[in-house]
Amino acid sequence: MEIRIGHLYPDLLNLYGDRGNIQCMKKRCQWRGIEAGVQEFQITDRIDFSKLDIVLLGGGSDREQMLVCERLKTIREDFRNYVEDGGVVIAVCGGYQLLGHYYDTDDGRIEGLSLVDLYTEQGSPRLISNIVLKSELFELPVVGFENHGGRTSIGSNRPFGQVLFGHGNDGKSGAEGVLYKNVVGTYLHGPLLPKNPQVCDYLIANALERKYGKQELAPLEDQEELEANRYIAERFKAMKTG
Ligand code: GLN
Repeated sequence: MEIRIGHLYPDLLNLYGDRGNIQCMKKRCQWRGIEAGVQEFQITDRIDFSKLDIVLLGGGSDREQMLVCERLKTIREDFRNYVEDGGVVIAVCGGYQLLGHYYDTDDGRIEGLSLVDLYTEQGSPRLISNIVLKSELFELPVVGFENHGGRTSIGSNRPFGQVLFGHGNDGKSGAEGVLYKNVVGTYLHGPLLPKNPQVCDYLIANALERKYGKQELAPLEDQEELEANRYIAERFKAMKTG
């Protein structure tokens, strides 16, 4: 079995080392004997979505998002077909915002891909925090870090999780991120997947299922990851109630 991972615009959308998420997906495939190829796309490259099983759209500053948004218009149709066909996407922070219709900033509107019915408006102050979520997808909490000016409204879409500690989509709804078909959008950036192996395996399992039919993922030795997750979740949950 083989999984092909496409990393969109790592030269522009790679805030806080989103690239680590690619490494994590690759390793967790390889440890199970699943081949994993990674293709990086620069802003002018043509993308053949039919050759991809997982797409990562990383985070970026407002300026960088403005730069990629023009280019996104040219791939919108192919990207939408991929998503509607159950293609797996992990979109982080700036990339998450770009899944939606637009991101309104003080310097103007950044048009999004309109792949998911959501939109973002800049607010103040920036929402910067460690963050802990409970997602309906997992027993284990999802832990991470957020740093965004945008407030995202996901309408009637399902959130990725409910905020146990931190701000989430808009600092008030208690929702974080979005789930749509096999798309996960989230504000949790940096090493999201290394910190949350359950999220990584969810993406891999969905990609394998779309390609080969339902597969059982072999368990890996995750004691250290699980211990780190537990420590962080407990620490911040305690801060909230304490
Ligand atoms: N520029 C966006 C914001 O500030 C996203 C930032 C990011 O990707 N960390 O809301």
